[in-house]
Amino acid sequence: MWFYSNNHQFRRQTDNGIAYLQATVKEVSDQFSGKASTSSSSNQAANQQSTVNSQTDKIDGRWTKRTATIYIKMDNATLQQAMEEAVTAWNNTGAFKFTIVHTRKNADIVATSSNNGGDQAAGLAQMNENTVTGYFIDGHIYLNKAYLLNPSYGYTHERIVNTAEHELGHAIGLSHNSGQSVMQSSGSFFSIQNTDVQAVNNIYNKNSAKQSS
Ligand SMILES: [Zn+2]
Repeated sequence: MWFYSNNHQFRRQTDNGIAYLQATVKEVSDQFSGKASTSSSSNQAANQQSTVNSQTDKIDGRWTKRTATIYIKMDNATLQQAMEEAVTAWNNTGAFKFTIVHTRKNADIVATSSNNGGDQAAGLAQMNENTVTGYFIDGHIYLNKAYLLNPSYGYTHERIVNTAEHELGHAIGLSHNSGQSVMQSSGSFFSIQNTDVQAVNNIYNKNSAKQSS
């Protein structure tokens, strides 16, 4: 059923009885201030009006296994290539494996470009989690064309790839890290580091998402 599989909002509404957490992490990769803005909203499927907004750096869900399918559809060749390179970089760590799929249907993660000139966000990750199990349901990551490809911000190809690696890190289940890490909140100065691989291992070495650490 095409519509069911391709419209996440509809999908949420059909999953009655599941409590959802939709965590949205937005990178405001202002290279001058290094500040990032993050927000998270809780959304009970049974009660669409009960929504809580709070500031957080946390994404606390994970996939059931160290693997997820991803559909990449950038409407720009530079961003498409950067996202594919970022997938390869994560796969090369051995800690997590993304499988690129060529249809959006049934993809765990969808990666697209956005073109938001007013927002100043380089990237954004939006993960839907089943709060009962702690497992991700699906996710959507964005690379902002208006920001990453704006010559006045001077993004090199390497920094665009780093930004893509960062958003994929959120899609794996990583939160921000203030140290030398691809998950530094500015999101573009570091590629995947050993500390990031360890962080993935820490999440997935647990037997289940809700098992206490
Ligand atoms: Zn981030």
